[in-house]
Amino acid sequence: YNQHVQVSEKMEMISSLTASVAHEVRNPLQVTRGFLQLVAESSNEKNKGHISIAIGELDRASDIITDFLTFAKPQEEEFTELNISKELKQIEGIIVPLATSHGGNVYLHIPRDLFMEGNSPKLKQALINIIKNSIEAFQKDGQIHIKAYEEQNEVIILIKDNGSGIEPAQLSKLGEPYFTTKVKGTGLGLMVTFRIIEAMKGTIRFSSQKNVGTEVMIRFPSIRKKSS
Ligand code: ADP
Ligand code: MG
Repeated sequence: YNQHVQVSEKMEMISSLTASVAHEVRNPLQVTRGFLQLVAESSNEKNKGHISIAIGELDRASDIITDFLTFAKPQEEEFTELNISKELKQIEGIIVPLATSHGGNVYLHIPRDLFMEGNSPKLKQALINIIKNSIEAFQKDGQIHIKAYEEQNEVIILIKDNGSGIEPAQLSKLGEPYFTTKVKGTGLGLMVTFRIIEAMKGTIRFSSQKNVGTEVMIRFPSIRKKSS
């Protein structure tokens, strides 16, 4: 038991360290990308090819950071009372444009305020990683339905898409580091999501049917609102 505590403290240190390092790294990546594009404009075809590969690799590095740290703030690790309805509405502003640009739609069904204990930036990161996968799985007329409700002292968040679906044999691989079926995937999004949900004492379950869609069910212990 003691050893377990030590390990998890170390993990926390590592994750907050990662957060600050990644924030510092994102900027130079963007600046480098900008200058490479400039250089490409006055380059011959062969060099343009090389530069385009370099830019692709920079984008890959940015994607990895995005899967980990879209919302992470290094100094904010603590858990507070979260209103899931509010969190989902804030996420809406990011995912609706993304879904639209992929030719689909998001439908949010949130009946009332629901409360849980957690860390707001991390919860957002976890949900965004799931929803981004739904958007990337869009076929024609992509739709994502997001629902939240309470059931027997648990808050439940349901994210359901009508996308490409997941092969049964691949369901058990979800969340494994570097497991991806995408040409440009990182295979890190769900690993991050699973860890965050576990840290907030939640569970996550995927059900999917190939070419029909995927449903993700997340459960957290609910709390009664303390402050008013
Ligand atoms: P990445 O998105 O970079 O591939 P993830 O960890 O986010 O990495 O997802 C791993 C894999 O899980 C994806 O490559 C995809 O095959 C599968 N997957 C996850 N969610 C969905 C979904 N909603 N629809 C179809 N496939 C999915
Ligand atoms: Mg992903």
